[in-house]
Amino acid sequence: MHASAVSEPLYQLPAEVKEFRKVARKIVHEELLPLEQAYLKSPEQAYGLQPITNLRAVFPPDVVRRLEKIARDTGLWYVMVPEAHGGMGLSLLAQIAIIEEFMYTAVPFPWVNVPNILYECRGAQAERFLKPVIEGKMIHCFAQTEPNAGSDPGGMMKTSAVWNGSQWVINGTKMWISGAAESDIILLQAVTDAEKRQRGGITMFVVQRNSPGVKIEEPGIPTWLSQKAAQYIIRFDDCKVGAEDVLGEVGNGFRLGQKWLTIHDRLLRGPYSLGKMQRALDMSIKWAKERVTFGRPISERQAIQWKLVDMHVDIMALRALTYEMAARADGGEDVRAQAALVKMVAAEWGTRCLDHAIQIHGAMGESSELPLTQFYRYLRHYQIGGGTNEIQRSLIARQLLKG
Ligand SMILES: Cc1cc2nc3c(=O)[nH]c(=O)nc-3n(C[C@H](O)[C@H](O)[C@H](O)COP(=O)(O)OP(=O)(O)OC[C@H]3O[C@@H](n4cnc5c(N)ncnc54)[C@H](O)[C@@H]3O)c2cc1C
Repeated sequence: MHASAVSEPLYQLPAEVKEFRKVARKIVHEELLPLEQAYLKSPEQAYGLQPITNLRAVFPPDVVRRLEKIARDTGLWYVMVPEAHGGMGLSLLAQIAIIEEFMYTAVPFPWVNVPNILYECRGAQAERFLKPVIEGKMIHCFAQTEPNAGSDPGGMMKTSAVWNGSQWVINGTKMWISGAAESDIILLQAVTDAEKRQRGGITMFVVQRNSPGVKIEEPGIPTWLSQKAAQYIIRFDDCKVGAEDVLGEVGNGFRLGQKWLTIHDRLLRGPYSLGKMQRALDMSIKWAKERVTFGRPISERQAIQWKLVDMHVDIMALRALTYEMAARADGGEDVRAQAALVKMVAAEWGTRCLDHAIQIHGAMGESSELPLTQFYRYLRHYQIGGGTNEIQRSLIARQLLKG
């Protein structure tokens, strides 16, 4: 078990949540860490939006089945799912505290990452989309970015959906879409009113990946995140979907995209970073005590001690901030700017924390025997994916200057 000076959160979590964290921590140590070497070295390692697809890409079915069974038996599969949909009904703060545990290892645990906007499903949509996603039978991807629309999707998005009297006809190109090739449904933003654009002119569609007129370019675009390309270009060429495939209201898709981004791509980067940072610190403390140079363990050198302290401070501060913002979200506050803050520092402090850990480990820090470089790549990516740090800063500035 990891038991470092900073493993307990600052917040008093409900006893039930502490219990789930304990279960999650036990699974990490007994089930996932023994698989880590195989995961880190697998050429099939990819980066999609669902832990389950990343797991399935690397391990044989018996290993996946075993972990899925543990996830379902413990209830942790449903960590993000409200009670009304058969889940644990946990607060966001509780979800974050548990998910942080799973981020201690590179090996994905199959908890189901249900996009919060799918709870907007109405009538038959719940059976068609939401239920299969919750059960892991349907995998989603989120398609907002385009070749010329990254930081400014509202202003620059070109993908359009035109109503022809009986159906929506979609044309355009999406780019950098994580896990698109493994997905069954695409949560797609398209312009439905070019005048209004992000103010009522963008609509969210649930498009079946195998629909006529949808082409996913394979292989995807290689990035340094994973061994196998997992970001894709999707082309829509007169792809037709029905009125029943609109998620939420026509024209409300930009708001839905922001809702998804606030929680999934911003607030959740807090625990995603924290687990990795905590592991890096625990590993660094152990290594520094064991590694001897010039007759003394390197832990006795101030140069190393200060790096450990800086990592410790970053973890403490990020955890306090993340938990605070999650609690505010649970209390019904609009946390868009706060989520931007969490994402920005999770990315920046996470990157520098992993940089210290790699340095403390010397050559071993660079090796693929350890998860450190993989963690570093992910955390560095967080400064770009889901909105760059410059964009997060401008969101925070807007909030600061508002009144
Ligand atoms: C690995 C990976 C996975 C991804 N997965 C997905 C996905 O699943 N779905 C999806 O929709 N997208 C995805 N993306 C796209 C990602 O969200 C965009 O790359 C990101 O929002 C930045 O857009 P851009 O690359 O077009 O950069 P640009 O918008 O071209 O920005 C270039 C640079 O200019 C800066 N900049 C831009 N505007 C301003 C400004 N106003 N003030 C100051 N600086 C500015 C940016 O911060 C950046 O440094 C993914 C990207 C990567 C790399």
